[in-house]
Amino acid sequence: MARSSLLLSPNSVLANALLRSIDILRPRVHAARPSRIAFVVGTQINGAPHLGTNLVQSAAFLLAKVARREFSIDTTVRFGALDNAPYEVVLDPETHSAYQQTYYHALGKDKISDLIDAYYQEFFDSLSEATDTEYTVETYTDQQATPGFRAEFLRTLERLEDIRWWMAPSHGVVHTRLPCPECGWAEKRADRTKLAHLDEDGAVFTAVCLDHGDYEVHIDPEGDQPYLDLATLYRNLVKERALGRNTAVLSVMMKGGDWAFGCQLVDGALGALGTPTPQMPVRIFTPQVLAPTGAKLSKSLLREQGKDALPTDVEPWMLDTTAWPGSIDNYVDALVWLVGELLTDPKHFFRSFTVKELGRLMTARPADLDTRPRAYEMGIYKRYFDLIAAGRKTTEIRVNDSSRRKIKKGSLIRFRCRDEEVLTRVTRISRYTDFEEMFEAESVASVNPTATKEDQLANIRQIYPAEREALGVVAIGIELVEHHGAGEGA
Ligand SMILES: [Zn+2]
Repeated sequence: MARSSLLLSPNSVLANALLRSIDILRPRVHAARPSRIAFVVGTQINGAPHLGTNLVQSAAFLLAKVARREFSIDTTVRFGALDNAPYEVVLDPETHSAYQQTYYHALGKDKISDLIDAYYQEFFDSLSEATDTEYTVETYTDQQATPGFRAEFLRTLERLEDIRWWMAPSHGVVHTRLPCPECGWAEKRADRTKLAHLDEDGAVFTAVCLDHGDYEVHIDPEGDQPYLDLATLYRNLVKERALGRNTAVLSVMMKGGDWAFGCQLVDGALGALGTPTPQMPVRIFTPQVLAPTGAKLSKSLLREQGKDALPTDVEPWMLDTTAWPGSIDNYVDALVWLVGELLTDPKHFFRSFTVKELGRLMTARPADLDTRPRAYEMGIYKRYFDLIAAGRKTTEIRVNDSSRRKIKKGSLIRFRCRDEEVLTRVTRISRYTDFEEMFEAESVASVNPTATKEDQLANIRQIYPAEREALGVVAIGIELVEHHGAGEGA
């Protein structure tokens, strides 16, 4: 197939250890047996996204789909909108201390919400549809206000001496930013922010505002005020500690590959805090998008140096993806195809790509991507696949997990079995509490014309354990649309 020549990647330590990229989650899935996996992806809300950002997000959705199939566990994507990104930084003319204002403080909740809608809503809806994966959006502002985040932050303060060199190896000063209650500006490097008191009721900090002088803030686990802004590494430490406590949901941190360098400091701090192994974060680093120099493709470079600093290989949409010459669905289909190709081999996924190489790959995408109907995908055993392809099986049975809830009459479902696929259209949908109730109502022969009701019930319960059946059962009426056999280039 063309696939083998599309990408060429050397072997690597990680790729050598994995058959498939998703296997990186397997040890934790086996050890923790979570009821759900959430792929957590955080993005700074500071203007139009570039390709690197959209690549991490697309990988989160695609891996959620792959993990759901691979581990038979429901999966979702949690999008964290980092609205604490610096909007403006000024210097105190006397002390030269830097002060900053976050996007949230500069724009307010409504405008942040508008920004998320403008840059991500349609993109995520399209990715969600293309990968049958539900997602939620949470801002940093919402997150820092939760009791879980605040309690976790307060616990780190008790051990500040143990973590401060991990969080700030050069000077040992952890950057806790507590915006002035009057104007919302905060010391960027916490130069004059001091922890004055800490007990079981919370923490008292003192700080100095550029305009309003000395002020005091009190952080306790219950109240959602005042605002708590943390430097990047510290924020990740607190977030990963808080998510790790919920062992029923495995949170997988999706991060651009450049994070691999920084995470050892977070891990050092997690270790210093005595974080138990089952609560240590699971992270997946995604391919970096590199300029020809090998530096990460960055919008700040563009802002600081102007368009002339850009290499000729950078296409406009790579820096500002709203410049993509096509619809959002078209862009998402191209990205899903691209990440799907990268995921065909861990050698291709756990590496970086230059903009030139990504440009080449995008150009090599199938020409008919636009005309391919969006379809739900389901893997299926050969004996059932053959019955569907022959038109003899007209009812498909699944558990009603999050990926099935949107399926409706008229939806397309592509069934896959190794190299073969068959496209079907949904003629009806019926939902039941369990398999027994389903077989009372459905025609047994339409589910499988070759087996008795008792045998089918026994078979299906071997495929789905009781906790999956507890999600409910969905019977999907299907009719054939087209069938691609092996070697037909499906
Ligand atoms: Zn102030």
